[in-house]
Amino acid sequence: MDRCILHSDLNGFYASVEIVRDPSLRGKPVAVCGVESDRHGIVLAKSQEAARAGVKTGMVNWEARRLCPGLVCLPPHFDDYLRYSRIVRRIYERYTDLVEPYGMDECFLDVSGSRALFGDGVCIAENIRETVKAETGLTVSVGVSFNKPFAKLGSDLKKPDAVTNISRENFRRIVWPMPVESLLYVGPATRRKLVARGVRCVGDIVRYGEENMSALLGKCGRQLYAFAAGHDRSRVMHTDFAAPIKSVGHGLTFTSDLYDDGEVGQMLLFLAQDVEHRLRTAALHAGGVELGVRDTDLAVRQYQRVLPASTRSALRIAEAALELFRENYGWRRPVRALTVRAIRLSSAEESRQCLLGPAEEQLCRDETIGAAVEGVRSRFGKWAVAPAALLGMEKVPGATSHDVILPGQMYV
Ligand SMILES: [Mg+2]
Repeated sequence: MDRCILHSDLNGFYASVEIVRDPSLRGKPVAVCGVESDRHGIVLAKSQEAARAGVKTGMVNWEARRLCPGLVCLPPHFDDYLRYSRIVRRIYERYTDLVEPYGMDECFLDVSGSRALFGDGVCIAENIRETVKAETGLTVSVGVSFNKPFAKLGSDLKKPDAVTNISRENFRRIVWPMPVESLLYVGPATRRKLVARGVRCVGDIVRYGEENMSALLGKCGRQLYAFAAGHDRSRVMHTDFAAPIKSVGHGLTFTSDLYDDGEVGQMLLFLAQDVEHRLRTAALHAGGVELGVRDTDLAVRQYQRVLPASTRSALRIAEAALELFRENYGWRRPVRALTVRAIRLSSAEESRQCLLGPAEEQLCRDETIGAAVEGVRSRFGKWAVAPAALLGMEKVPGATSHDVILPGQMYV
């Protein structure tokens, strides 16, 4: 018997939670917005009324207000979003223990083994939709299918508060005419490559063929072909499964622009300290560093480098990031935002085994210092011990923007 996969997506999640918190907002155009004074002034989520007025996620606050004069702008309440996200996940778990979160407001569910108890996939999806609404006041849209990519597509087709079934019988009719970017993993760059070869809709991918897709996009091309043809077999992970961390990063948009290497170096060290803390918490070391730079023209550039030896020392990570910056940036414009990311992660144990002689001594020294600093900070606060280079930073916003949690990979 075919598998039965659901993808359940909470509609307008942040804005819907705000309306549950304050029911007097119901029916009004509502947007959850970043804080303007920190220059994170963009729309993070909007209610249907705001969407109808043309407000889009990612739009700058003032632009949203111009389009929708009565717009109620609220600051985000992430703790509440997390709480509701967990409550809804507990509801899903009544139907199956194969519940895999995909971001804060979406989950895949494998309900293949639940059908004897709860009815077919559509029946379970309807049941979930009604239960979530009755118990939380939030609405979901659910896609039902025999694989994950189609279930995901299905949840996008009808919303809010709806169920869409994509079956072996109807997927060619429903999915194939959709534009390629509606498929999981097709971003703007991939879309451009495909469109340049006349591959515009999902069905075109199948007609273009597996070998051509592979020649064009490598492994990813084969995967997209499997998605489009309905061949994907990737599993829904168990509810206790924690995705392995692929990278650890920290980024900031500064309260005013940076103008020289000195300022950039200071900020990189500030960011790297946070990266070190997170690597330490996860018992990981970095084998490489990735630097992201956004200039005042809003162009983003990324540079990567492999480290001579694995480390989690903030100093070594910041040094590598600054070298990358000096070699590549060229100061055509001031810098508005920076991101430092530790990549090529390995467990602390693995990286120690690869080192010999001076490199091992260096690592041990960095480790001893890092552990001592961490100990003091955990007792007396983040600023109890800080490099002198970090004193007097007035361009760091009060509320630092941690990375958004990205949806996990698909596990085969
Ligand atoms: Mg959603």
